[in-house]
Amino acid sequence: MRIIALPFAIAAHIGAAYAHDPARAVYVANAGVLVARGQTKILIDAFYAYSYDTYLTPPTAIEDAMMRGEAPYDGVDAVFVSHIHGDHFSPAPMLDYLRAQPAVRLFAPTQVVDALEEAGMEDGLRSRIVPVDIGPEDNARSLHFGDVEIDVVSLPHAGNRPEVQNYSWRVTLDDETTIIHFGDAGSVEENFARHSKHFSAREHDAAFPPYWWYDEPSGRGILENYVKAKQVIGVHIPASALGRGDETRRDLGGDVFTDPGEERVISE
Ligand SMILES: [Zn+2]
Ligand SMILES: [Zn+2]
Repeated sequence: MRIIALPFAIAAHIGAAYAHDPARAVYVANAGVLVARGQTKILIDAFYAYSYDTYLTPPTAIEDAMMRGEAPYDGVDAVFVSHIHGDHFSPAPMLDYLRAQPAVRLFAPTQVVDALEEAGMEDGLRSRIVPVDIGPEDNARSLHFGDVEIDVVSLPHAGNRPEVQNYSWRVTLDDETTIIHFGDAGSVEENFARHSKHFSAREHDAAFPPYWWYDEPSGRGILENYVKAKQVIGVHIPASALGRGDETRRDLGGDVFTDPGEERVISE
């Protein structure tokens, strides 16, 4: 073993900094979140351009910071896309980001990768993209990249849209913090019941369901019986909730992100 002569005081300081640096989630907009644990960072559903006159798109300042890799969006390891809808993913900002941040990997449904191809993706980007093609009845797929471990299942999109590949990404950062995102999954119990082993295979520190699950007994049931997360933070709230976080959380009876840039500590 080679001993690296790092002055003890510095080594101790670095160790302490990491030990006391809690994992956190930062809201981008709509279903878009950054999750960071120490130097390990991921983004989900953060590059898109359509509001459909209802939802927030990423504010220019946040989009610029992501593109430039400025804190807290510096050192992102991997980005994930739940599905192809324009309030979660658009080819142009996704390609701009992959070009601007050459160390980042993208994990996405094949439909999303096909859309990038159609938008003129250059050959050089392809090796950094992991397309996933699974159906709702398929077992979870597990993937690894650097300090992130990934499990993904296909959960049908709300409102009977079987043509859309909608994926639930579960990501464990540094073997410590596990988060789970659902895209626009409908709160249909059987779609979760068939993956009950997958959901119970890890402890979920934080879950990011679409906010409408709070209003549906089936959504609450799924959170309670399958997801069992220590912390639930709803996403995908309409833009009308901007600046009305406390009121919105009270009305929904649960936590939800309303204002881009707001943060939560993810407790372990
Ligand atoms: Zn959708
Ligand atoms: Zn959506």
